[in-house]
Amino acid sequence: MTNAHDDRQVPHGKVALVTGASRGIGAEIAGRLARDGFSVAVNYAGSPAAARSVVAGIEEAGGRAIAVRADVSDPVAVRHMFDAVESAFGGIDVLVNNAGVMDLAPVGEMTDDIIDRMVAINLKGTFNTLREAAGRLRQGGRIINTSSTVTRLLQPGYGAYAATKAGVEALTAVLSKELRGRGITVNAIAPGPTATDLFLRGKSPELVESIAMTSPLERLGRPADIAAAASVLAGPDGSWINGQTIRVNGGIA
Ligand code: NAP
Repeated sequence: MTNAHDDRQVPHGKVALVTGASRGIGAEIAGRLARDGFSVAVNYAGSPAAARSVVAGIEEAGGRAIAVRADVSDPVAVRHMFDAVESAFGGIDVLVNNAGVMDLAPVGEMTDDIIDRMVAINLKGTFNTLREAAGRLRQGGRIINTSSTVTRLLQPGYGAYAATKAGVEALTAVLSKELRGRGITVNAIAPGPTATDLFLRGKSPELVESIAMTSPLERLGRPADIAAAASVLAGPDGSWINGQTIRVNGGIA
């Protein structure tokens, strides 16, 4: 006998908003959540054509998606993005805060422009969407933030970037408690080195290979590895995981 209702499926009508979903890990998460059954809002800032192509890929596979532009560092743009997604899909159940930037320099050589941009996008950008989500996510929702394994590795040159991601981990734990009574979980995924523009840019093939070999699994992460973890946290099997930062890094740290 089969059950008429399979409680491992994402219920019809659930909506996910993924920031920074025009490329890299975010694009993969958007596609994965669409395959899981979510209607997906694909946020982007500077790459409209890439975002449109992510939406087209989802629609060709039979899913529902829209592209929505907002620089996450701009609180007004973020509010309008939430308005646009609610008006297109009727509400929001899952927020994936994936948008992020990384520039490396020793603390003593870091410029104001670079640290201000990382704080504005990685930390304040995450805060901006969390503030909207805190008031607007539907009962039973899920929030997935993005940290990085650098908060554990703490390598030279990563100080400013790691500081923004440590802030994201703190926000994750605090918000999970503040949302008591709403049935909403708040977690962070901390990827290890993952083959995207953000990681590969400026690195020689030899350096990339040596970093890949630091994992006991002897390869870089793939965006799909991170999307698989997001799928668990967003879906029915993730309902008891709350307030955690989950390191998805092949065992690198
Ligand atoms: P990526 O390939 O460089 O993609 C970054 C995405 O973020 C793009 O879609 C970009 O959109 C978007 N974005 C950048 N600034 C934005 C802004 N102000 N507002 C909205 N969207 C913005 O990076 P990725 O490797 O996929 O990284 C995704 C997340 O994982 C980041 O938070 C990163 O810190 C984290 N992470 C990555 C790694 C890694 O090794 N790759 C490891 C640990 C953590 P536009 O092009 O449209 O601007």
